[in-house]
Amino acid sequence: MTHAPAGTEETTAARGRRAAPTVLKFGGAGLRDGAAIRHAASLVASHPGPRLAVASALEGVTDLLLAAQDKVRGHDAQVLPTLEALRRRHLTALQHCAPGDDAATYAIESGLQRLERLLYGIAYTEERTERLHDLVQSFGERLAAPLLAAAVRAQGVPAVAIDAEHAGLRTLGPYGDARVDLEAVRREAGPVLRAMLDTGQVPVVTGYYGVDTAGNATLFGRGGSDFVAAVLAHAVEAQAVELWKDVAGFLTADPRLVPTARWLPELGYDEAAELALNGAKVLHARCVEPVQAAAIPIRVRSLAEPQREGTVIRDGVPDAPRGVRSLTHRAPVALVRIAGAAGTAEALAPVTASLQSSGVRVLAAALGGSGLALAVASGDEAAVRHAVATAPAAARTVEVRGQRSLLGIVGRGIPASGAAAKVLETLAHAGVPVEMVAFGASQVAVNAVVPAADAPAALRALHRAFLEGAA
Ligand code: ASP
Ligand code: MG
Repeated sequence: MTHAPAGTEETTAARGRRAAPTVLKFGGAGLRDGAAIRHAASLVASHPGPRLAVASALEGVTDLLLAAQDKVRGHDAQVLPTLEALRRRHLTALQHCAPGDDAATYAIESGLQRLERLLYGIAYTEERTERLHDLVQSFGERLAAPLLAAAVRAQGVPAVAIDAEHAGLRTLGPYGDARVDLEAVRREAGPVLRAMLDTGQVPVVTGYYGVDTAGNATLFGRGGSDFVAAVLAHAVEAQAVELWKDVAGFLTADPRLVPTARWLPELGYDEAAELALNGAKVLHARCVEPVQAAAIPIRVRSLAEPQREGTVIRDGVPDAPRGVRSLTHRAPVALVRIAGAAGTAEALAPVTASLQSSGVRVLAAALGGSGLALAVASGDEAAVRHAVATAPAAARTVEVRGQRSLLGIVGRGIPASGAAAKVLETLAHAGVPVEMVAFGASQVAVNAVVPAADAPAALRALHRAFLEGAA
């Protein structure tokens, strides 16, 4: 490093002196209308220290775009009403939180103009490629970011909206469920965003999508703005990610089913990821990956109660109390039993390969001497039957039971704690039949399949056994 240009050292030193930024992300609920956007902007504006914001689409807009893609196909008369609805939503909100902001008006109008062309394309060609699908969906965020940036400016803090393509949010595809190219994002987005921060600007970046090597918009899946926030936090070496939501974080169970559910002040990365994978809607499941290695904490915070701490997700949370931390459930799912598919990995391989190529979403699996049991997403039953029937191996029988619920019992140290035995005992006591039990590979969860109608009773019994009193 002896030949480093004189400026480099200075820049590094200057960066060392600078406070690490915070990434603040706002979901649809936080961007419902003008009043909500003004509130979100006030949280950004009043945040002490450098920060950048990630905006998802206004509430309902992602769903509206999805529906529009179907509606306009072969029906060009549907295009303008869709655009009018979006124009009214965004311009009314802008009028409320940043009246007269020309930059935002221009960004929204030109975004709508591009979207109009794309929707007419779908209308006339009656075709919707994956590429076009992802591009159209990205417009919810493209319209929202300028709005939030304007609202921040209206509160006296310089802010600039920036699209994922200009921010350098690189992906490796595929459409619909893209993987991020973390190295490229560090290389490209890091300097771009830091340069903006250095001049005192708050970058407001679009969530939900990134761009592949050919420059195509690729989505990160529903709720993907959380993931974008985590990726950008990694790229700028943030001190924290704040996910502003309409809930104050994670609870010990769904309070609609378990009235005694409690709020959780903190969780480990693995526990939060496992809860998300098991159906907790609080967090995008891949969100912890980019921040875990860099030990950047995620704070899930409540828009309604900004003074509250919310749930902090980080490593090194105190070891006690360990064992079960939280319960989740996913319903409806289907339980599939494939008899005669087991014994060895070889015997199983054709079946699993066939399941995979049929696109079956396997949520949990258990293998025994007499066969394989799977919990699959509801709606995938026919694909399972087809997959098993076409797998090149001996005849097998398949039994499918719909209307099941997949319970997730989550907490670090579960395998060693004897929790699985207690789960079975508790459910037996509550009179709930358990049709399948499985440990995840992460060692942070036990899954149980029960009839969907029994799920509320099962969750209440488990909550009482593990999470109430002296447990
Ligand atoms: N707007 C997208 C969605 O509704 C992304 C997000 O909200 O995070 O899924
Ligand atoms: Mg959304």
